[in-house]
Amino acid sequence: MKLIDIINKRCNCKVTQIIITSPLGERIAYKDIPNDNKKCYDISLQRGNIDLVITYSADEKLSDDAVSLLTDLIDVYVENRATWEIAENVTKSPDINTGRVNLEEMVKVTTNALVYSGLFDKAAVMFFNEKRMEFRGVYMSSIPPYSDEQIQAFKNKRVPVKKSIIEQLHDYNSNPDDLEKHIELEDKIFRSIDNVKLTNPLIIVPMMTGNKIYGVLITYSNNKYTNTHIFTTRSTARLLNTMMMVVISTQKYEYTTSFYKEIESEMRSKQSLVTLGNYVATIAHEVKNPLISIGGFAKRLMKSVTNDDLKRMAGIIATESIRLEHLTEDILSFSRKRPPKKEKIHLKTLFEGIVPLFETRMTEHNLKINLDIPDDAYIYADIDQIKQVIVNLIANAMNAMESNGTVTISFQEKDGKTSIMISDTGPGIPLEVMPNLFKPFFTTSSSGTGLGLPISRKILNNHNGDLTVYNSKNGAVFTVTLPAE
Ligand code: ADP
Repeated sequence: MKLIDIINKRCNCKVTQIIITSPLGERIAYKDIPNDNKKCYDISLQRGNIDLVITYSADEKLSDDAVSLLTDLIDVYVENRATWEIAENVTKSPDINTGRVNLEEMVKVTTNALVYSGLFDKAAVMFFNEKRMEFRGVYMSSIPPYSDEQIQAFKNKRVPVKKSIIEQLHDYNSNPDDLEKHIELEDKIFRSIDNVKLTNPLIIVPMMTGNKIYGVLITYSNNKYTNTHIFTTRSTARLLNTMMMVVISTQKYEYTTSFYKEIESEMRSKQSLVTLGNYVATIAHEVKNPLISIGGFAKRLMKSVTNDDLKRMAGIIATESIRLEHLTEDILSFSRKRPPKKEKIHLKTLFEGIVPLFETRMTEHNLKINLDIPDDAYIYADIDQIKQVIVNLIANAMNAMESNGTVTISFQEKDGKTSIMISDTGPGIPLEVMPNLFKPFFTTSSSGTGLGLPISRKILNNHNGDLTVYNSKNGAVFTVTLPAE
């Protein structure tokens, strides 16, 4: 029986959504089931290293007994299976799937390259399961040629892990130059991987994002090891870490795709950007006032001229000057450094003031805004600035959907942070756009300025918060994070 059916039956409720998140913040799996019109409740559980949010609809909240039953059920389930298989019917997020495919491809290319280099006779990668209780093979180099069955067997291989191994891997990581230590690292558990008697030990290098180990890169050579063997294995693991960061976390995509080189050149160009920014702001300021007069006169002309051609031309001048006015306004607000005046804001009231701004657009294009905000949700922010951020994010979402879509606003308070999620049912952010999203003047729209997102992020950074984005199954999800007071 499937996990969701068990919960439904035993807890007398109807699960409408399950979200499972790994320790790396990766959304491993989720399931959305259309909601019947009953009230929905959320339960957040932390099991081992994973976070689960279960949303269910029921007449009332689950009793304490039902919650403890649910917790037990999840425990049993998690104990018995690798978490990424937590329910066969839980559809995996397509972006994460794409991520896995990319990663697998990357691992394949890398392990093959290690063997092609002539330095190693074997190379393989194994990942921890989410509870870090076992390793699971993901790929081994196909050279020397392994049969499909051998590769498949490796992929399905699960190797139990003792805590001491994780400690050793950490230890190993902090002594990058200690050849002896590396080679002496316990390898016997890995010998069973392809049942070959090895003459040398395996070199096992941890793969880590931040200080979290998520897997190991294993290399093996028939020849005597040198520092080059260790160094190459380690550098390759680092390369994989960078890729891992990219594929598991679209939020981090923009930082990590750039690799070191790009970061370096960015650092260099940052200083000139500041200078350029100051010039642009001065020019914008000078241009703004005349623009307002041009626009105003064009509107008056439109009304007073009778010739159709002249009317049309005056109309173009008016619209274009409004567009330029917006651009100068955006440039100025990007360069303006106004410290936020924080106040306690009742979130629902804030949104009730914002939604009417989009009413015409919603009716004309059949768009909806769905407010999923609890009555007692508050944020601490500068009301004008936060309004600017939210209006901008909703407008972007509506631009992306064009027509027939829904923008959903939800709220979460966790670990001293409040988050507002603005998700749409549009096409999501194309991967090639992702790294440029927060760069000033980057836009894919002919009428956009490309300043909306950089300004929004800057405002939030000034609040000690942030703006992040990822693609969900349905579209883009922008998360506004602010410190809870
Ligand atoms: P602008 O809206 O003026 O283009 P922004 O900085 O607000 O500037 O947005 C930059 C780009 O990010 C947009 O041109 C669009 O390509 C992309 N984008 C922003 N929000 C979304 C969204 N919700 N869905 C898809 N793409 C988006």
